[in-house]
Amino acid sequence: MENYKNIIKEIYSDVKKVNDIGKVANYIPELAFVKADNFSVHISTINKEGFGVGDFDKKFSIQSISKILSLTLAYKLEGEKLWERVDVEPSGNPFNSLLQLESDLGKPRNPFINSGAIVVCDILFSHLKNPKEDFLKFCKDISDNSTLNYNKKVAQSEKDSGFRNIALTNFIKSFGNIKNNVDDVLDFYFHICSIEMNSKEISEIFLFLADDNFTTRKGERVITKSQAKRINAIMLTCGFYDESGEFAFKVGLPGKSGVGGGIVAIHPDKYCITVWSPKLNEKGNSYKGMLFLEKFTSKTTSSIF
Ligand code: GLU
Repeated sequence: MENYKNIIKEIYSDVKKVNDIGKVANYIPELAFVKADNFSVHISTINKEGFGVGDFDKKFSIQSISKILSLTLAYKLEGEKLWERVDVEPSGNPFNSLLQLESDLGKPRNPFINSGAIVVCDILFSHLKNPKEDFLKFCKDISDNSTLNYNKKVAQSEKDSGFRNIALTNFIKSFGNIKNNVDDVLDFYFHICSIEMNSKEISEIFLFLADDNFTTRKGERVITKSQAKRINAIMLTCGFYDESGEFAFKVGLPGKSGVGGGIVAIHPDKYCITVWSPKLNEKGNSYKGMLFLEKFTSKTTSSIF
């Protein structure tokens, strides 16, 4: 950990000085109110050590990072049948694209683009009695963190401006791959995206993907080892929209980003690290977050390759 700490401090101060050419997401109006120069890093190891710099205790909208959690719960409940409705191929297209759905007959390429995450929400909606409450409880149980919550303002803001997601859901429904009411599924999806966490909480909640022996406080496994392996594989190949190849090339870890400017990356058997910097590059990934992680895995020589 000492080694990680020194390297994190050093890279943090280097990257902080870099001129950020990214832009804060504003297509969800409520997200644009965030302070653009927030910048934080937090690492949690499987030995339960943690270290952070910057605004790591400030909560933000985790947006698509939550797609890992919705996938995890859907995989747990639905098992391998899940893959009949969502594929596991990189899309090579923007996160909110409708293009491939026409030729793929409504089966999204993967669970980390919006179309795939919306089908995952539909699957969860069919399984859960009280979808929003039950999903939040699942997140609280994994992280042993009762403070987790949705940001209703952000969910409403996305609902009011989510024209592409509305189009995507209706389009998928026309192929029969959405079973529930479109408005209900979207409301659930927007809430899941609006969950707020700080960088420390994010690096802790995903330890179940880094640590093969992870159990919750109640002593329960979250998912099987094989399921964790598969989720990591999808993160590596599909976690960064149409920049997933670039992230694997530069950083070399499974990860997932969100338009709130957060990135989480996992080193199986070692650690989980989160970087938050709200300005995004043109592909929708945090500009400084990518830069930080590239330097971090290079300096610590701790990628999976
Ligand atoms: N709620 C956002 C959307 O659906 C999530 C996008 C993201 O973080 O990739 O557009």
